Amino acid sequence: MSRTVVLGVLVAIGAVSMTVRAAQQPAGQPAPRVVEVEKLRDNLYMMRGGGGNSAVFITADGVTVVDTKNPGWGAPLLEKIKSVTEKPVTRIINTHTHGDHVSGNVEFPATVDVVTHENTKKNMEFMRTPTGITPAPGAPVNIFKENGGRGMSKRTFTDKMTIGSGADRIDLHYFGRGHTNGDAWVVFTALKIAHAGDIFSGKNLPLLDAVNGGSGVEIGNTLAKAAAGLGGVEGIISGHSTVMTPADLREYSDFNKDFSAAVQAAKKAGKTVDDVAASWTIPAKYQGYAAPQPARLKANVQVVFDETK
Ligand SMILES: [Zn+2]
Repeated sequence: MSRTVVLGVLVAIGAVSMTVRAAQQPAGQPAPRVVEVEKLRDNLYMMRGGGGNSAVFITADGVTVVDTKNPGWGAPLLEKIKSVTEKPVTRIINTHTHGDHVSGNVEFPATVDVVTHENTKKNMEFMRTPTGITPAPGAPVNIFKENGGRGMSKRTFTDKMTIGSGADRIDLHYFGRGHTNGDAWVVFTALKIAHAGDIFSGKNLPLLDAVNGGSGVEIGNTLAKAAAGLGGVEGIISGHSTVMTPADLREYSDFNKDFSAAVQAAKKAGKTVDDVAASWTIPAKYQGYAAPQPARLKANVQVVFDETK
C-alpha cells in the first residue's frame, strides 16, 4: 500500500471507532484511546494512557501484562502490544483491584492466566467504589460480574510468588497494607525493574482506599519494607507517573510516614479533620511533589483519623 492509502485507511478506521465511541459515551466526551509506548528494555515496555501504567514483559513463550487500564482500554492495549511483539499474551498480573488497573482484563482472551494478591481477588469479587471516589456516570458496577467472570483473578499469592526462571523470572511481593490491602509489587528480576502500582502512583498524596483495606498509618512502613525488600531493583514503574528510583521510593516512604505522624499528632492535640485539611501543606523538603487536591487531602486525613485511637 502506498503511504497515502495507508493514511486513508487509518483515518477511516479512526472515523469508525469515533462513531462507535460517540454512540457509547455521553455527548461531548469522545476521546481517542491512545496508548503511549515507552521502551524500558528490549523485552519490557511501559504503556501509558487510559488509566494506570501497564508493563508489558516479553518472555520466551509469551507476554505478561501488568495492569490493563480502564473499561474499553483492554483492546487498544492489546493492539499496541501487537505492535511490539508477535507473541501472545499469556498472563495478566493486576497490582490491585481498582477499575483503572483491572477493567481491561475482560477484553483479553478468556484463556489468559490472571494473577493477583489473595486480598485483591476478594476485592475484585466486589469491585467496591474506592474511598473518596465518585464513580463516573455509566461506569460498570462490577465489570467481572457483567462479563460472566471473565478476567477474574485465577491464581493468588500471599507474601511472595515466583513465576518463571532466568531471564523470564517474575517475583511478586506483598509488603503490607497501603493503597489497598492487596498491593502487589511485581519485579522483573533479570532487568532489575519493578512495577509498584498505585502504592507508589507518583510524587503525590496517595489514594488511601480504606474501603478496600488501605491504610494511612501503615503505608509509610509498607513502602519502607518494599524499599528494603526489592533487592537490587534500579527502576520502579509507578502507577500513574514516570519510572522512579529506589531513592524516590525511600523518600516517598518518609513522605507518607511524615503525613501520618502529623495527622495523628493533630488528632491527639484535639484538632478536627477540617482543621488539618485546611492547614496541612507538603513539607518543603519534598521537592517536586504535586500540590494536594483538597478532596484527596481531606479524605486521607479522615482515613488516618479513623485509624488513630
Ligand atoms: Zn488504585
